[in-house]
Amino acid sequence: MERYFLSRFLLVACILAAISLNGQGQDRAKQVAFDWIDDNAKTLNRVNKNIWNYAETGLQEFKSARELIDLLEANGFAVEEGVAGMPTAFVASYGSGRPIIGILAEYDALPGLSQEATPQRLERTGIESGHGCGHSVFGTASTGAAIAIKEAMAVNQVQGTVRLYGTPAEETGIGKTYMLRDGLFKDDVILSWHTGDRTGSTYAYTKALVSVKFRFSGLPAHASTSPHEGRSALDAVELMSAGVNYMREHVREDTRIHYVITQGGGQPNVVPPETEVWYYIRADKHTDVEKYFNWVQDIARAAAVMSQTELTTIQVDSDMHEVLPNRTLAEIIHRNLELIGAPQFSDEEKAFARATQTGLEGNYEQALSETIEPLPEEPGQGRASTDIGDISWFVPVGRLRVASYTLGAPGHSWQIVACTGTSIGEKGLRVAAKVLAASAIDLYQSQELREQAQADLRKIREPLDFVTLIPEGQKAPQVIR
Ligand SMILES: [Zn+2]
Repeated sequence: MERYFLSRFLLVACILAAISLNGQGQDRAKQVAFDWIDDNAKTLNRVNKNIWNYAETGLQEFKSARELIDLLEANGFAVEEGVAGMPTAFVASYGSGRPIIGILAEYDALPGLSQEATPQRLERTGIESGHGCGHSVFGTASTGAAIAIKEAMAVNQVQGTVRLYGTPAEETGIGKTYMLRDGLFKDDVILSWHTGDRTGSTYAYTKALVSVKFRFSGLPAHASTSPHEGRSALDAVELMSAGVNYMREHVREDTRIHYVITQGGGQPNVVPPETEVWYYIRADKHTDVEKYFNWVQDIARAAAVMSQTELTTIQVDSDMHEVLPNRTLAEIIHRNLELIGAPQFSDEEKAFARATQTGLEGNYEQALSETIEPLPEEPGQGRASTDIGDISWFVPVGRLRVASYTLGAPGHSWQIVACTGTSIGEKGLRVAAKVLAASAIDLYQSQELREQAQADLRKIREPLDFVTLIPEGQKAPQVIR
């Protein structure tokens, strides 16, 4: 009997020692990662500022991708460039074997959002685009996180593989969608983040979205001497818009339909023979997007009949599913946010942000958020869309947002461009990099957590059917327009 108790005692003692060793290992690994991020703050800030200055739009992010690739290669990562047929898409890897943890980086800017890093609206001369979604900070922080994880691997604190995915053209839902179609993202877990006006673990759905272009073909003619000989392809676009705007009354409230006329004709005295209109159709559930996409196509065909023109092309560029939230990953991220803390800003930074709040709706007590949002019990519902959505149907995805700009600033605004080009964005960058690295370290070191995240995904995916509106075999577009 005595021997039995002794062996039980030894077993329990061993388990306790292993747990505490693991805990210490985890702390040490995180400290290695945090130190790298702090020690290399200047480098990360420089990379962010360079990408911010380039402000390259989707699929044109050659210099931006290069910044990140150079930094990754200088830190021992193997980089595969031009993946999935997109020159600005890449995969950087370090380590070997499983578990494999992927981190997503975005770096595309937005057209029409040229802005200096000033607290007043001021266009940059000679540049039309700007980082109105904060993707310069996004890409840089994710890259910093991947390198910080590598540092922990290099001193044997973490085992496995880390992958940094360079994902272009997020704003049009191209990059990740086609990378996934090309067989990428075979990771155990994927982590991502986004700049925000607040800090928190993002436990929420996004909207599903189809991006589609309709082209009409008519007959050119002198618009004054022989209009009867012409058939206007612009009439088709306008009739289609009228139809869609009537349709709005009868769609679910969470639906969003927006369009731009990308080709509307040359000049008024020529009946426009060729036109193109570009639509985004969104809804909380992809099944609704499928339904409304069919309705919009019927309207386009009817508009062609009414204008005696031809609907020549319906081109689906991208189709993004709603992000499926993952409870396990949301909790891990929340715990690490609490460990690291929200960014804290100086009086100067607050004064800068305060000035950018002028003219915003709503009264904000603070200029910049310095607290962590509570983790909701139930997943929320975002109003934006992201091509992370499709990945989240196949791999557990954890996300967070970190205050990197003015509280209350609308998405895709000059305020975001201004702040992310300053030390405000840089503070968000460092917090995001640390939380991503720390959450990854927890996941490398716990098979149980990884399995739990997988189980969360299986449960939410089980009743859903993955239907894509992108034609089979279609390759990634080479240009946005
Ligand atoms: Zn974004």
